[in-house]
Amino acid sequence: MGARKILLATGVRDEVSEKPGFRELWGRGIYHCPYCHGWEVRDRPLAILAKTEHLVMQVTLIRNWSRDLVALTDGESGLEPDARDRLAALGVPLKEEKISSLEGDGDGGLRRILFEDGSEIEREALFYGPPQRQRSDLAEFLGGEVEAVGPFPALVKSDPTTRETTVRGVYVAGDAGSIMQGAIMAAASGATAAAFLNHALCGEDAEATVAGNGGAASRAADATGGSEAV
Ligand SMILES: Cc1cc2nc3c(=O)[nH]c(=O)nc-3n(C[C@H](O)[C@H](O)[C@H](O)COP(=O)(O)OP(=O)(O)OC[C@H]3O[C@@H](n4cnc5c(N)ncnc54)[C@H](O)[C@@H]3O)c2cc1C
Repeated sequence: MGARKILLATGVRDEVSEKPGFRELWGRGIYHCPYCHGWEVRDRPLAILAKTEHLVMQVTLIRNWSRDLVALTDGESGLEPDARDRLAALGVPLKEEKISSLEGDGDGGLRRILFEDGSEIEREALFYGPPQRQRSDLAEFLGGEVEAVGPFPALVKSDPTTRETTVRGVYVAGDAGSIMQGAIMAAASGATAAAFLNHALCGEDAEATVAGNGGAASRAADATGGSEAV
């Protein structure tokens, strides 16, 4: 199969925890994005799970939706003292016990988070960004660069304007190449990539036509010049 241009829109795979309750509640009580789901759970008792410095960043964003927050690390986090101080100053308790499971509310939502030390907390939603990887290895197969950006470990690198990847003629749209992972952003980046891809195709076609006509014109000129010379 041949193609002059390729647009990759192959998305990412969220590697959701195997602990009981995570897969069942993914997208319905467990959310990864405050911009997608913050409104739905505004002012509700929420938990935020992250292991690293991203925990403080997520708390900073999600406290805009609810002030009833608990920060979780699912085990010893190694959080720096200034991160701990910041959470304390924001009034967000930090719980570093390992999570054993999540319990649903019987209606598809989250009710409770249970810990290995036997403790539990009632929460109506958990914000959690699982590790991600590319859903398809097509970009790398074609020689494209994949890079870590912030909390996202593997995004296809592309020109921010044209969405052309590091491989000429290969473009990327949607989650596969963006930290802004949402339906509207994916569609918008697809439209952007398609426009620049079309721009490149039209340009190539026009170049080929011009080169073809130019060749014919110069052959005609050569022929005329030749007869004059004779
Ligand atoms: C739980 C959850 C809730 C979300 N809620 C919201 C929300 O409320 N609002 C919002 O805006 N966004 C939300 N999002 C994000 C949104 O779903 C994504 O940003 C969007 O779907 C990205 O679109 P995409 O086309 O880039 O990738 P995807 O939707 O992942 O589509 C990629 C497609 O490519 C296919 N594919 C991959 N490799 C190949 C291959 N080699 N050959 C053929 N097909 C292939 C995949 O099977 C898939 O169908 C949510 C995401 C999750 C996980």
